[in-house]
Amino acid sequence: HPLQVGITGGIGSGKSLVCSIFKALGIPVYDADSHAKELMTTDGILVQQIKKEFGELSFHEDGSLNRGYLSKAVFNDVDKLERLNRLVHPRVGEDYARWVNQNANSPYVLKEAALLFEAGSHQTLDKVMVVVAPEALRIERVLQRDPQRTTEQIKAIIRNQMPEEEKMKRADHVIVNNETELLIPQVVALHHQFLSATASSRS
Ligand code: ATP
Repeated sequence: HPLQVGITGGIGSGKSLVCSIFKALGIPVYDADSHAKELMTTDGILVQQIKKEFGELSFHEDGSLNRGYLSKAVFNDVDKLERLNRLVHPRVGEDYARWVNQNANSPYVLKEAALLFEAGSHQTLDKVMVVVAPEALRIERVLQRDPQRTTEQIKAIIRNQMPEEEKMKRADHVIVNNETELLIPQVVALHHQFLSATASSRS
């Protein structure tokens, strides 16, 4: 198995941007959130389970996910959110395991997930990185990226996520994505660390 590295960070921290740098360095990245969304409409068993737990309204007529309905159902309801995660998570886990096998020749692989610690995925990974940035900057970046969102909505999402300090305590590596630290050199340094960790474990 290749070395498995997780990457997480709150909304607007810059996870996706950091992942695109790793990809440019030739490292395969598994985006757990987008695979989860995809499996929620393509995995027949999962679709049935979601309909049973949350109702037929969870999907539009054409089979696509009724995101508005579902996110209203789970937002601010920890119990329901947990039930949804308990359905989706095992399917993503299986899909990810298959993907790792397909990328077994890579020196290491990345798993990107917004709720990595919350889902307990860090327990199965060799190393975990967290991307952090000041809250005001995160809000500004998300407003730029998603103009339909409001500052209040973004703040509510941030309050709903595990605090950054908590993630930093649990992570093996912290990537600082503010306006003063240089992003690419931090990523390149970590890339070399993971490559040498792989080299020493294989020799
Ligand atoms: P989400 O959890 O919402 O998907 P994310 O952590 O993946 O967020 P990104 O999408 O990578 O965050 O970054 C948020 C936005 O801010 C993007 O439009 C990205 O291009 C921009 N951004 C991130 N970091 C920087 C930076 N250092 N300089 C300029 N723009 C940045």
